[in-house]
Amino acid sequence: MRVLLIEDEHKIARALKKALEQERYAVDIAYDGDEGHAMATTEPYDVAIIDRMLPGEYDGMAIVRDMRAAKIHTPVLLLTALAGIKDKTEGLDTGADDYLTKPFALEELLARVRALMRRPKEQQATILQAGDLTLNTITYEVKRGDTLIQLTGKEFALLEYLLRNQDRPLPKELIISHVWDYDADILPNTVEVYIKYLRTKIDQPFNKPLIHTIRGFGYKLQASK
Ligand code: CA
Repeated sequence: MRVLLIEDEHKIARALKKALEQERYAVDIAYDGDEGHAMATTEPYDVAIIDRMLPGEYDGMAIVRDMRAAKIHTPVLLLTALAGIKDKTEGLDTGADDYLTKPFALEELLARVRALMRRPKEQQATILQAGDLTLNTITYEVKRGDTLIQLTGKEFALLEYLLRNQDRPLPKELIISHVWDYDADILPNTVEVYIKYLRTKIDQPFNKPLIHTIRGFGYKLQASK
């Protein structure tokens, strides 16, 4: 997942980049509005974090407005020093998806970014598929063939993440950082436990397993060819 950070205060930008990189995101920084505008409208990002007040021709609101006008649906978290309700609604009306007032706790920002990553983009498929397994991100229906499978919320989130990244070996730490909340109580075997739950439901009753263990590393979801 790739994040664009547009923030003119270098110290804040560097601290955010470091924190985001620890979450396994790839982070690009723009330190002014013009550079940020160029990057936001040409490069593909999974999430953009944009400071509202920026030097240059484009401020944060103008960048969001132009992104939406160009049909770029990248989720945007707008940062600002202004705390008024009017500024908040203005930001959201412009097309930002969320809004965070400075100063903020780093944990809060990371939680918001994670939430935005989970939000399906307008153009993203609502039904994810691997072999005969389908997952509907709107109705939360999971099926293998015509068989409906009941999953808990966490099992569903884990399966959705595996499906969105299918055919890729996924390290356990990466799975944790995308599926579990910052404050979640993670034990060393949390991923194994939930993979086991998932396998019991989506693989064991059927003859073609989809979840594959990569010993000492993690897991891969792949439909046999
Ligand atoms: Ca600023």
